[in-house]
Amino acid sequence: MSKPVRVRFAPSPTGPLHPGGVRTALFNYLLARQLGGTFILRIEDTDQTRFVPGAEQFIIESLEWCGMQFDEGVHVGGPYGPYRQSERKPMYRAYADQLIENGHAYYAFDTEQELEEMRERLKKANVASPQYNSITRVNMKNSLSLPADEVQRRLDAGDEFVIRFKMPRNEEVRVKDIIRGWVVVNSSQLDDKVLFKSDGMPTYHLANVVDDYLMKISHVIRGEEWLPSTPLHVLLYQAFGWEEAMPEFAHLPLLLKPDGDGKLSKRDGDRLGLPFYAINWTNPETGETTLGYRETGYFPEAYINFLSLLGWNPGDNREIFSLDELVQAFSLERVNKHGARYDFGKLNWFNQQYLRSKPHAELAEMVAPQVAAAGHAIDMAFITEVCRLMNERMTLVSDFYKISTYFFVAPTKFEEEVAAKRWKDAVPGFVTGLKTAFEGLSTWDASSTEACFNETAAAMELKPGQLMQAYRLAVSGQGAGPAIFELTALLGKDEIVARLAYALTTLGKA
Ligand code: GLU
Repeated sequence: MSKPVRVRFAPSPTGPLHPGGVRTALFNYLLARQLGGTFILRIEDTDQTRFVPGAEQFIIESLEWCGMQFDEGVHVGGPYGPYRQSERKPMYRAYADQLIENGHAYYAFDTEQELEEMRERLKKANVASPQYNSITRVNMKNSLSLPADEVQRRLDAGDEFVIRFKMPRNEEVRVKDIIRGWVVVNSSQLDDKVLFKSDGMPTYHLANVVDDYLMKISHVIRGEEWLPSTPLHVLLYQAFGWEEAMPEFAHLPLLLKPDGDGKLSKRDGDRLGLPFYAINWTNPETGETTLGYRETGYFPEAYINFLSLLGWNPGDNREIFSLDELVQAFSLERVNKHGARYDFGKLNWFNQQYLRSKPHAELAEMVAPQVAAAGHAIDMAFITEVCRLMNERMTLVSDFYKISTYFFVAPTKFEEEVAAKRWKDAVPGFVTGLKTAFEGLSTWDASSTEACFNETAAAMELKPGQLMQAYRLAVSGQGAGPAIFELTALLGKDEIVARLAYALTTLGKA
């Protein structure tokens, strides 16, 4: 019988959540939802020196914005709590002791200086990677090398110690990874990792394995950077006698820089002047705030859709997936081994797709605050129409007012290059004639104004195509924009006539 699906996202609160972390959470979430499993948030804060205040809250808020809800975790509770490792501190020691008792771990009393001396010694002897391992441990101060009574004396005296894993010598360790297949490592390449520290805290490795076991985790889905630690984790399951409960492993490929060279970092966003984190992050030390996708005006659906295709593909060329559709389509077997480029431009493309698919009235609600902030009275019907005309020209919700200002205020400046190129010869005369014709028009809509435009041009033996951009310039101040007669209809006769009059005075009548 297969065991219930229980997956965890297990970040360390050492800073703002990297996009790679959001994607890891997402893939865990998708698997859990697809298989009717449980999605758990566990905070791995055993390294107190790297703790950053606010990071945990930031992680929770980022994932909430993305639409991922946890079933168990620090903020929602659950039957396997507490879910913050610092609060589980008292229980880890017994597990380390269990490994000492069954011969898989030992006490080590070496000082920082003694460890440094060992490394120096090995370097001089040309050892490529100096390690505390089955060969070197015999010359160090630990419960395997020291007489039993001295070990006891040191423990009784309260000497500082750590507990290390007794890595077997020359043993093949096999890790089955859903994405990578079998990964085989010889234990001689691995060192005697510290499992329990002198400050009374477990290390990542011990706490992670013990908690995965106690929380009945069925699949460990995490970043590729943890693959080298997995052989140790497998050995720990064996040392505890927990082989039966060992989760399945899936290590996700790295997120790479947009140009594909090296690991993605926040600097890549900075370089492009684009956000990097899901939501605003305020550095608790400097008070400096970095703008997030949420605050910049990206849709969480677009962000999630974008992230989902970094390292995973649906097997066909579909690109647009809602969260529910991803739940249906996702599979770990379709996750690639190789790194995925983080293409900021592609995220913008996704955002455009989602923006275009929003009902205009809904988009209008989103942009209305920008209109109010610019000091205009709010007319939702009008704003909805502007959204209809402008949505294809926007990437972000926040672009709206910037590119639609002329719907709300008549232009006072005209794009110079366009004016120089188009406002000449017969144009001022045509615009003067058009203004008069418009004034006399009784029906004002897109087709009547367009017909009037064409007739006026024909009467003057001019081609409408050559006049269109000049007309647009007069009405909007710009050389490009949405369907011009839709704009004409929306602004209304009085406004259009006034704008033509202003353009004629400013740009010249002849
Ligand atoms: N605490 C580790 C991290 O910050 C978790 C790795 C894992 O999922 O095992 O990524």
